[in-house]
Amino acid sequence: MAYDSRPTERSDPATDPSANYDYRGGAEHRPALDAALTARVDGDVRFDTYTRELFATDASAYEQRPIGVVSPRSVEDVVAVVEYCAEHGIPVLPRGGGTSLAGQAVNEAVVLDFKRHMDSVVSVDPEEGRAKAEAGITIARLNDRLDPHGLKFAPDPAWGDKSVLGGAIGNNTTGAHSLKYGKTDAYIEECEAVLADGTHTTFGWVSVDELQRRAREADEDSDLEGRIHAAVARILVEDAEEIDEKYPDLKRNVSGYNLDELVDTARERGEVNLARLLAGSEGTLAIVTSATVSLEPVPQSTAVVLLTYDDILDAMRDVAPILDHDPAAVEVMDDTLLDLAADTAEFADVVSLLPEGTDSTLLVEFYADSPADAERKIADLLADRLPGHEARATPTEGGGDVTAEPIHAVDALEAYDDDRQAKFWKMRKAGLPILLSRTGDDKHWPFVEDTAVPARNLPEYVADIQALLDEHDTFASYYAHAGPGVLHIRPLLNLKSQTGIETMEAISEGITDLVIEYEGSVSGEHGDGRARTQWNRKLYGEDLWATFRELKTAFDPDWLLNPGNVCGDHDPTETLRYDAEYTFDAGFEPTLNWDTENGFQGMVELCHGCAGCTGHQETTGGVMCPTYRASEEELTSTRGRANMLRSAMDGDLPDEPFDEEFVTEVLDLCIGCKGCKKDCPSGVDMAKLKAEVVHEHHQREGLSLRDRLFANVETVLSLGSTFAPVSNWLMDLPGAGRLAERTVGISSERTLPGFHRATFRDWMDERGGSRVAEGDADRKALVLADPYTDYSHPDVGKATVRVLEAAGVHVSVPDAVTDSGRPAFSKSMLDHARETARENVAALAPRIREGWDVVAVEPSDAVMYQLDYRDLLSNDDADTVATNTYGVCEYLDSHRLLDGVEFGATERALAYHGHCHQKATTKDHHAVGVLRQAGYDVDPLDSGCCGMAGSFGYEAEHYSMSEAIAGLLVEQIGDSAAQQVVAPGASCRSQLDDFGEDGEPPHPIEMVAAALA
Ligand SMILES: Cc1cc2nc3c(=O)[nH]c(=O)nc-3n(C[C@H](O)[C@H](O)[C@H](O)COP(=O)(O)OP(=O)(O)OC[C@H]3O[C@@H](n4cnc5c(N)ncnc54)[C@H](O)[C@@H]3O)c2cc1C
Ligand code: SF4
Ligand code: SF4
Repeated sequence: MAYDSRPTERSDPATDPSANYDYRGGAEHRPALDAALTARVDGDVRFDTYTRELFATDASAYEQRPIGVVSPRSVEDVVAVVEYCAEHGIPVLPRGGGTSLAGQAVNEAVVLDFKRHMDSVVSVDPEEGRAKAEAGITIARLNDRLDPHGLKFAPDPAWGDKSVLGGAIGNNTTGAHSLKYGKTDAYIEECEAVLADGTHTTFGWVSVDELQRRAREADEDSDLEGRIHAAVARILVEDAEEIDEKYPDLKRNVSGYNLDELVDTARERGEVNLARLLAGSEGTLAIVTSATVSLEPVPQSTAVVLLTYDDILDAMRDVAPILDHDPAAVEVMDDTLLDLAADTAEFADVVSLLPEGTDSTLLVEFYADSPADAERKIADLLADRLPGHEARATPTEGGGDVTAEPIHAVDALEAYDDDRQAKFWKMRKAGLPILLSRTGDDKHWPFVEDTAVPARNLPEYVADIQALLDEHDTFASYYAHAGPGVLHIRPLLNLKSQTGIETMEAISEGITDLVIEYEGSVSGEHGDGRARTQWNRKLYGEDLWATFRELKTAFDPDWLLNPGNVCGDHDPTETLRYDAEYTFDAGFEPTLNWDTENGFQGMVELCHGCAGCTGHQETTGGVMCPTYRASEEELTSTRGRANMLRSAMDGDLPDEPFDEEFVTEVLDLCIGCKGCKKDCPSGVDMAKLKAEVVHEHHQREGLSLRDRLFANVETVLSLGSTFAPVSNWLMDLPGAGRLAERTVGISSERTLPGFHRATFRDWMDERGGSRVAEGDADRKALVLADPYTDYSHPDVGKATVRVLEAAGVHVSVPDAVTDSGRPAFSKSMLDHARETARENVAALAPRIREGWDVVAVEPSDAVMYQLDYRDLLSNDDADTVATNTYGVCEYLDSHRLLDGVEFGATERALAYHGHCHQKATTKDHHAVGVLRQAGYDVDPLDSGCCGMAGSFGYEAEHYSMSEAIAGLLVEQIGDSAAQQVVAPGASCRSQLDDFGEDGEPPHPIEMVAAALA
C-alpha cells in the first residue's frame, strides 16, 4: 500500500527543538561525577532526580536509587565509565530491561543502561548457526532477525520481548522450553566484556591445559585476567568434588555462580568457557558488551495437550511420568488461576471445556518434524497417561507402555491448529496478570517465586509448601514450569506492615529449608538478587560460599560491580519498595470515581514494575505504550510514569505531582490512549491517573488558551461550518499555519480538518428523518452527531444512517446531544467534561428507558459514554447510558443486525486500524466482523495508537512525538497486503491523511454502506 513514508529525523522528540523534552527533572546529583562522565562518553549521562528515580526499581519488591544513569553507545563508553568509577571507588550496575524479580537490577551504583542504545545485531552466520549481538538487544528482536534463516536463540523467557541479551546472560535466563533447551549458558560461545578495572577483553573457550598454564604464570602483580585464570584454575582442581556434591542435579538452577557448568565442561570437553561463568553472575563479575551465541532451528511442528486433574497434587504426581515422553514443555495451572480465567471473556470458553471439578491442568507440548509426528507423540502420551482417551492419532505400537505409574489425569484437550495451541498457551501465561491485578495493600510478592526441585519430589514439596503457607495464614497459587520442577509461588502479603515483612522472612526461610530437603534450588529461574543471595550460604555451605567470594574478588577486587548480590551481604528485608514506614499522600482530593480500583492510591500503587510496557511494536504488538515505542525512553513508558507518580506521592521526590516540571516531563507525553488499561498485566490506567493529576494542576495554575480551544472544539467546528467555505479558504492561506503555531501553539505542519456548510444534521432534516418507520422497526437508535461527524465528516454520519436503515433500524439524531465531553476530558478539564456528561445523561437516559439505543460514530465518544461517564458521574443514569451506548460497528455486530442484509460484490482487501480506546475496551473486533459480513477481505492490524490522540498531535510541541508514533503505524500499513486502510477514529484518519499517501482513509461504516446491494 502507498503508506511507505517513515518517521523523519525530526520525529525523534529528543532532537526536536520545539518539543523541548529532555526526559530529566529535579536536581543533578553528584555534579562533579556527572561532568566527568559526560566529558568521557558519547551516550547519555543523567544524574537528575527523575532519572535516578526511574531506575530505582525493577520488577521486584525492592527499591534503591542509583547514583546516576549512563546509556552507553559503544564499548568505549562502557570502558570509560568503568575505568573512571574503578579509579574513584564508585559501584557500577549493568542493566538491561530491568525485568528482574529478585532486585538484582537496582543498586546504589552508576547504572549502565544497555537497552537504550547498544542493541544491534553485529553478525549472523546461518551456516555455523551463530549470531553476535550487543548486550542491549531484546531476545525478541534478535529472534526477528534470525527468523528468515529458520533459526532462533533458544532460551525463551516469557518477557523476552522486553528483556535483553545482557540480562539473559546476567540471570542465566530460560523459559517454558528449558526441558528441550536448557538455560542461556548452553548457548554462549563468546562474550566481549569489560572487567572491573575497565579492561576490555573477550572470553571464550580455552583448554583446561592452557588455563592452568596461564594460572601458573599469574602472580600477585598480575593483571585482572591473570588473577581470574588463577582463581578459576584453583577452583577446578580443588573444589570440583564439593561442587559435585552441593550443586543440585537440576536442569534449572541459577543460584550462586555457574560453577557446575565450569566443572562439567572441563570434564566433558577438556575446555572451559569463562563467558559461561558470567551466566547467572548478575553483573557482579564483568560487564558484557556483546555476545556470540549458538542458535537452534525453529521447530517444524508443535502440538499441545491440556491434561486435567481433580487435585494439584495429582497433577504434580503426573509430571515425572510425563517427562519420560520427552516433551518440550510441561506447565501447570492451579485452581486459583483456572477460576480467575473462567471469569475472563477471553478464556471462559476454554475453561468451560474442562470437566466439572477440574482443579489443575498440565499443559504438555511436543516438538516434532511433522504434524503427523506431533499427533503421534500426543497419542503415545495419552495412551500411557490417560488410557481409554481417544486421541486424534493412533499411538505407536507399544508407545503407550513407557511408564507404569498410576493414572491421575481425568481428561485431555488436544490442540493441533495454531490458534487453539496459542489460546492454551495464552491462558497459561495469563496467570501472572490475573494475580497481579490486586489493588489493595495485600499483593502477591515475588521472593520465593522460582524455586526448583526435581520433578519426582514435586508432590511432597507442594504439600509441604501448602502447610507452611497455611501456618502463616496466607496462600499462593502454583503455576509455571512443572516439567523442570520450577514453580512460581507468590504468597499474598502486606509488606507495608512489620508483620508482613516478618512473614516474608519466615516463609522465605521455611521454603529454603524445604528446597534443601527436596534436593532443589532456591532459584530455578530468576536469580539471587536482594531476595535470595543470603540463602546461597545455606544452600551451598560455608566452603562454597567462600569460593564464591574468592571468585568475586578475583574478578572484582574492590567489589564494585553490582555489590551485594550472589555472595554479598544484601538483607532481603531492607530497601523494600513498601515497608512499615511507607506513607502516601496524593496532595489533593481526587474527583473521579475510584471505587473499583480500591481508591486513587490503589491505582497509583498498582504498577509492579514488570516492564510489560517497554516492548516494541513489531515484537510485542498491542497498544501499550506508544510513547515508549516511539522514543524508547523509560520516562515515556507506563512504568516510568507510574514509578514517578508513586514517588511524588510517597515522599521520595521533592515535587508535588501537579508541579509544572512534573506535569510537563512526566505526564504531558502520556497521550491518554488507554493502552495500558488493557495491555498492562495489572491494568494500570495511566490515562485516568493523568486526567486526575493534570486536572488538579489546572485548578492551581489555570488553563491555557489552547486547552480551552480544544476542549470547546464543538464551538470552533460549528463556527467553521457556519462560515464555510470562507473558513476553509482562510486556513489554506499562506502563513496561516505559522500564525496558528505562534498564537495558540497548533503545529504549522498540520492540516486542520475542513468544514462542511451542509452538516450531517442538515442532511437528516432535509430527508425528513428516518426512512424506516418506528412502527416497522425492531430496534430504534439515537445516532449521535458528534462535532467531527456533524461539521467535518457528514458522510460518515450519512453512511451510518444508511446502514442502520438497511438493517431495519429506525434512526433519529438527537438535537440535545452533540459533544460527548471527550475533548475536555482528554485535556483533563474534568469539571467541564462532567458538566457535559451530566447534560448528555439527562437527555439520553429517559430516551433509553423509552426503548432507544444510543449509537456513536466516533470510537472515543463511544468509550466516553461507556466508560468515562461512569468515572465522572457514578450514578444509575450514567450506568444506563453506559450500558446502552454502542459504537456503530459494535451495535451492528453484537445484535447481528446485518444478518438479513444483502451486499453487492466487494473486491477490495482492507487493512483495519482500530481505535486505541476501543481496543482498551476489547470492542475493536466488531468492525472486523461487520466488514467481513459486508464481503470484504480484512487484515486486522495489530497496531497501536495512531499518535494523534485527539488534539495531542496538533500541538506544536507534540508534533514530533505524534509523528514518531504514526511512523510505527504507517510501517505496519505499508507491510499489509491489503489495498486500502480503514479506520473508525477521526483522529486516526487525519493522522493517516498527513503521513500516508492515499488521502484520508474511510470509516469502516462508509465501506459497509458502499457495499450495500
Ligand atoms: C513477567 C515476567 C516474566 C518473566 N519470565 C521469565 C522467564 O520465563 N524466564 C526467566 O528466566 N526469567 C523470567 N523473568 C525474569 C527476567 O525477565 C529475566 O531474568 C530476564 O532475562 C532479565 O533480563 P533484563 O534485560 O530485564 O535484565 P535486568 O533485569 O536488567 O538485569 C538482570 C541481571 O543481569 C545483569 N546484567 C544486565 N545486563 C548486563 C550486562 N550487559 N552485562 C552483565 N550483566 C548484565 C544485571 O546487573 C542484573 O543483575 C520474568 C520477569 C517478569 C517480570
Ligand atoms: S505499568 Fe503495567 S506493564 Fe508497565 S511495568 Fe507497571 S505493571 Fe508492568
Ligand atoms: S495511556 Fe497510553 S500513552 Fe499513556 S501510559 Fe498508558 S499506554 Fe502509555
